[in-house]
Amino acid sequence: MKRIILQISVVLLLIAALPIAYIFIRQASELTENEAMVQNVYEQQLETILFTINQNSENILYSWINRIDLPVEQHSLVMEQIVDGLLQNNKSLVHIAFFDIETGQQTALYGDSVHVKVDRPNKALIRKLASFIDQNYQRIEGVKHDNYISLYFVLRLSDNKCMGAFKIHSDTFVEQNLGPSIQQISQNRFHISVVDTSAVLNAASSADVVERDQTTHYSSMWYLPGYRAQIALQNASIKELVKSRSQYDVYVFWGLVVVVLIGLVFAIYTIRREMKLAELKSEFVSNVSHEIRTPLALISMYAETLLMKRVKNTEKADEYLHVIVNETDRLATIVNRILTFSKIDRNKREYHFTDVDVNLLIDEIVNNFRPHFSQKNIECNLVKSGSLHIFADKDSVAEALINLIDNAVKYSRDDHPKIEISSVLKNDYVYIHVEDNGIGISAKHQKLIFDKFYRVTQGNLAHKAKGSGIGLNIVQEIMKRHKAKVEVKSEPGKGSTFSLIFKQKK
Ligand code: ADP
Repeated sequence: MKRIILQISVVLLLIAALPIAYIFIRQASELTENEAMVQNVYEQQLETILFTINQNSENILYSWINRIDLPVEQHSLVMEQIVDGLLQNNKSLVHIAFFDIETGQQTALYGDSVHVKVDRPNKALIRKLASFIDQNYQRIEGVKHDNYISLYFVLRLSDNKCMGAFKIHSDTFVEQNLGPSIQQISQNRFHISVVDTSAVLNAASSADVVERDQTTHYSSMWYLPGYRAQIALQNASIKELVKSRSQYDVYVFWGLVVVVLIGLVFAIYTIRREMKLAELKSEFVSNVSHEIRTPLALISMYAETLLMKRVKNTEKADEYLHVIVNETDRLATIVNRILTFSKIDRNKREYHFTDVDVNLLIDEIVNNFRPHFSQKNIECNLVKSGSLHIFADKDSVAEALINLIDNAVKYSRDDHPKIEISSVLKNDYVYIHVEDNGIGISAKHQKLIFDKFYRVTQGNLAHKAKGSGIGLNIVQEIMKRHKAKVEVKSEPGKGSTFSLIFKQKK
């Protein structure tokens, strides 16, 4: 049987494990495809955000240029006022200067920081920016000097082309001019910062600290040479997100494995139980045949003797006839028990509940057993207390009690066998005890004897005694239908006490 169970287990395992493995592998490959796509889309988004930061800085610079790009003189009052306004409103702006486009000579300087001067633009730069303006495109070009950046551009003042320059303190520009828009874009979801790559210092950040290993993307700043904008997820990097997702998949996988294993254990348990039941059923058939064979043989033998008129006197004939009647009774009992069992098993048994006087019922049954007791020299004691009534189906309770007394007789010991049948009321419950001093039942078997077809086959007496293994199962089913209980207390070699416990009828 063990080999069959092992084979079935392996087949079940394969049936369950293969589809799971297939689904998991498929799922994993689809996930990586999806994740690659998500990552791609996500990276594009990050780049767009960095682009927006650059565009913001461009907008700020062109708005400054537009303010001064007027048809007025460099030294005019209007220009002076506008430039003063720009310098006052923007702390990052240190100087505004103008240069001659031909010679590169400084022609005007606004702003009062004495320590900082605007460097003279080189000729190549002037030529480059002038050629752009000829094509109607105003370009800005930044040159870094330590903490400052000079931003050069060409403009037409009073129809004369000239070179303009903003000298800005770069970190202040990043912090004060770009800072607000960075805060707005980050919305607590990203770490965005614009940093001086040479100083490796955060100039402006949406968070105080940017962990560099979390940074997923960066882009150089168009107008701030040496600076770059960088962006990272605030809580986790993409890699971490992907990792946590695959971790989730692993949990799901093991969850599935556990479910399959539980199912498998359950399936194996069920198969084992069914196989055990099949084995017990076949034992049952052989036991019943055995039980029927003896009475049949006796009946046939004595009937034949009578038929052949080989009996010497009428006394002997009477004795033979008695044996035939007794054995026929035994046969009828066996067959009736099997029929009862079959009815109960198929839930076809009908119950008619009435008031039952327990002590009266015990008397009736015990009286019927008297000949058996005396035949086997069994001492039987009856201990009844008061008047006990239960609401029950009399025939089936009788049947349960007969089964218990039958067993007490069957499994009694050879010397001084004793049976005590008692009834007692305890806490509104009526107890009917059937106690014997027979072979007893070990604790291991006590749990199983109420199962269908179960018989204890160890021990001499148990083996010798004929039986089919359905008696106690019938008792248990009858008790269940009465919402009552059957209990056993037993010790091998000392005896057993079976108790039927009913709710008292008041
Ligand atoms: P069986 O036809 O074998 O008696 P039962 O269902 O009535 O079937 O009992 C199941 C098993 O319980 C028996 O095979 C026997 O081993 C054990 N058993 C039942 N009653 C007693 C008892 N009074 N003393 C010892 N063993 C008992």
